[in-house]
Amino acid sequence: STLFDALKQQPADALLSLIGLYRDDPRPQKLDLGVGVYRDETGATPVLRAVKAAEARLLETQDSKSYLGPEGDIRYTELLQPIVFGKAVPADRLAGVQTPGGTGALRLAAELIAAAQANGKGAGVKVWLGTPTWPNHAPIMAAAGLAVATYRYYDQASQTVLFDEMVEALKGAAAGDIVLLHGCCHNPAGADLDLDQWRAVARLVAERGLIPLIDLAYQGLGDGLEEDATGARLVLDAVPDALLAYSCDKNFGVYRDRVGALYVKAATPARTELIRSNILSLARANWSMPPDHGAALVRIILDDAGLTANWRAELDGMRARINQVRQALAAGDPSLAFLGRQRGMFSLLPLSGEQVGILRRDHAVYMAGSGRVNLAGLTLATVPQLIQSLKAVR
Ligand code: PMP
Repeated sequence: STLFDALKQQPADALLSLIGLYRDDPRPQKLDLGVGVYRDETGATPVLRAVKAAEARLLETQDSKSYLGPEGDIRYTELLQPIVFGKAVPADRLAGVQTPGGTGALRLAAELIAAAQANGKGAGVKVWLGTPTWPNHAPIMAAAGLAVATYRYYDQASQTVLFDEMVEALKGAAAGDIVLLHGCCHNPAGADLDLDQWRAVARLVAERGLIPLIDLAYQGLGDGLEEDATGARLVLDAVPDALLAYSCDKNFGVYRDRVGALYVKAATPARTELIRSNILSLARANWSMPPDHGAALVRIILDDAGLTANWRAELDGMRARINQVRQALAAGDPSLAFLGRQRGMFSLLPLSGEQVGILRRDHAVYMAGSGRVNLAGLTLATVPQLIQSLKAVR
């Protein structure tokens, strides 16, 4: 017997096994609404033209692949800052580092919280997650040794944000607790807070001394770059301390290149430096430094007005296509009207696990077992097919 006998078999990622099932399905009309990447009207997830252009420049101009530091590409983090924060946070109150994707940013945030807790500044801190949420949130927090609490956020059957329940639950949070909020394009619900609700949450976290952790992974894919950051900025403005985990992986389409950033807002410039030193030391112990390529591309794009304009136009195109599909579904079936009011790639259809199984078996419609659909997996041509399939299982 060895140490590793004690390990337990872990379940395979459900969405990844769905990819295999979909691939092996011979039916030509099959629809993939499972995997969470943008698709164009041909079903492809192409490299953006602005990214290709940046890659060509990088190939020509990069003269070394020597190490950077644990902070990654500093210019990348600086150039991203106004897009995320506008002018909301003074530069000397914001510590930012490049991370391996939004996942790395969340993990680093969790480790920072855990480090502060270990030093006695927040014994028994809880991280409050809405339900439902991205399935990786709880494991990331648990991996850093943090305790998780939940607040109900969204009701799948009635397609409503449970705002009053959320507020009531968060009144039970202790000062210093962390509240995770989706900045926009909620995954999986598709339902975000409205501006009044964001303002109320901003007041609540400020009054109760809670620390917001904003997960902003889809900026620009909802209502627009500025619009999608409005809620996050309202909350950041209201509190002395806040964390923001950012992903460029969807809005730049660089998923596998792992491009993210963690920004921490702190009460004073001295505190900002203290936090920066801690996130750098935690990053060093985790991945030493983040992968360079994708962040270098984002930096090249944001450093060039022409490439930035091209990227914004391509992002506008992705957003417009997603919202066009949403509007077509809403117009095609009154019971899907909620999809037209929601934003981002994902929404939860009010289906049982059994109905999801029948859709796959009898209609070749593939979606997550939760009923989450990636609307970018549809086109105007396939919208009627989904509507018909849903009618058949109801
Ligand atoms: N947060 C949310 C809500 C997400 O949906 C995702 C990606 N599925 C991430 C974070 C992580 O993104 P990344 O691929 O950049 O790690």
